[in-house]
Amino acid sequence: MTRKPDPRTIAATQGVATDTRYGAVVPPLYLSTTYAFAGYDQTSGYDYSRATNPTRDLLAETLAGLEGGAGAVITASGMAAVDLLLSRLRRDDLVIAPHDCYGGTWRLLVERAARGDFRVSFVDQGDDEALKEALGQKPALVYIETPSNPLMRIIDIRKVGALAHGAGAKVAVDNTFLSPALQQPISLGADYVVHSTTKFINGHSDVVGGAVIAADPEEAKALIYWANVVGSIGAPFDAYMTLRGVRTLFPRIAQQEANALAVARFLLRRSEVTAVHYPGLEDHPGHDLARAQQKGFGAMLSFDLAGGIPAVRAFVEAVRVFTLAESLGGVESLIAHPPTMTHASMDPEVRHAAGIGDGLLRLSVGLEAEADLIAGLEAGFAAIG
Ligand SMILES: *Cc1c(COP(=O)(O)O)cnc(C)c1O
Repeated sequence: MTRKPDPRTIAATQGVATDTRYGAVVPPLYLSTTYAFAGYDQTSGYDYSRATNPTRDLLAETLAGLEGGAGAVITASGMAAVDLLLSRLRRDDLVIAPHDCYGGTWRLLVERAARGDFRVSFVDQGDDEALKEALGQKPALVYIETPSNPLMRIIDIRKVGALAHGAGAKVAVDNTFLSPALQQPISLGADYVVHSTTKFINGHSDVVGGAVIAADPEEAKALIYWANVVGSIGAPFDAYMTLRGVRTLFPRIAQQEANALAVARFLLRRSEVTAVHYPGLEDHPGHDLARAQQKGFGAMLSFDLAGGIPAVRAFVEAVRVFTLAESLGGVESLIAHPPTMTHASMDPEVRHAAGIGDGLLRLSVGLEAEADLIAGLEAGFAAIG
């Protein structure tokens, strides 16, 4: 009996040393759009790259393995992955989504619902009463994001998933913030996992991409079929780059997490900071749950700065080491102001109701030395009056 490889081994070596032509250790990049038929009505298994491509398929196989799913589709972006999943819905279907979901996902759900593609209801999934009431409306899909962006709220995947299944709904989890290195939603009962591979999975801020992983082989097949029908697939070069990023996923995220904890502890000691949102801190409301369902606390955190917009402006213009930019999950540290950046597409009232105040700043902590990260933040604090 062959031993099932550990996820770390899958990440580092899936597809390595399998080239039968030249013995290339690193799996080659196949850019060809088309493949020769062996003869009349005989394909080699590959015919046209929108449908199948060896490089993209290897990334799909790797991510399916890391998430413990039956199959995966690699898409052109994280949003294309979310949209591919939503394309499985019918007009009367109801989606239950988090009230504080990723701004782009919020916009997609609102726009598609406005066109009559399905119905959507935004619910605080940490509020048991609100969730149970929403599930009473017999949704087709419950969409979960945990930890949430940008407040790092933790949702109990096993509990919400079981309630959703009891109501006849499928369950999807956006696992972008932790990656399969730190959380495997399918093992907690999810039917689908969605990723923006742009973030931790690629990890080097040089590819936009996405993936949907399905627990059920028939569902995986249906998603792969539909990605070919609509052509929302990722490019082979992007898949090659992303697979290169995946090779170091585990050690990257472990070191970034250690740095994030150090940064969170530093921020806790600052008088200018009114709250630090990091699940790795013992007094974070989701700490115990995160400890139970995750394999680590990740490298994302946010904090509330006293002094409103003037303090935020002074801070982000003076901070060093952290670059003021959207996105997250790369080896370099980034700082973002959600109200004017990542969550600008969300209605202000909705944003405030979700707890995203004007003084909120989000950090994606990278691989720099801890002392440099702290010194960079100190430069920001020094600039506030
Ligand atoms: C970035 C992000 C997305 C969207 O992915 P893109 O690759 O930018 O299209 C979706 N969900 C979460 C949680 C994200 O951070």
